[in-house]
Amino acid sequence: MEKILKNCIQCKVCGEVIESKSVYDFKACSCGTCSVDGGLEYLRRVADDKKSYVELSITEEIIDTK
Ligand SMILES: [Zn+2]
Repeated sequence: MEKILKNCIQCKVCGEVIESKSVYDFKACSCGTCSVDGGLEYLRRVADDKKSYVELSITEEIIDTK
């Protein structure tokens, strides 16, 4: 299981860093190539190509000690 600490990407086309801070916080970069959504609940990426953005999200592995 993974915990999301930061949900953001950088667009390689316009260079803008966009961050989704809550579940319904849908952010698109200024050129419209890519966008993020999901906040700290899930990592949602909307882009034509994965190569069009740099993944900058920070996730933490949760170790279940049960
Ligand atoms: Zn862009």
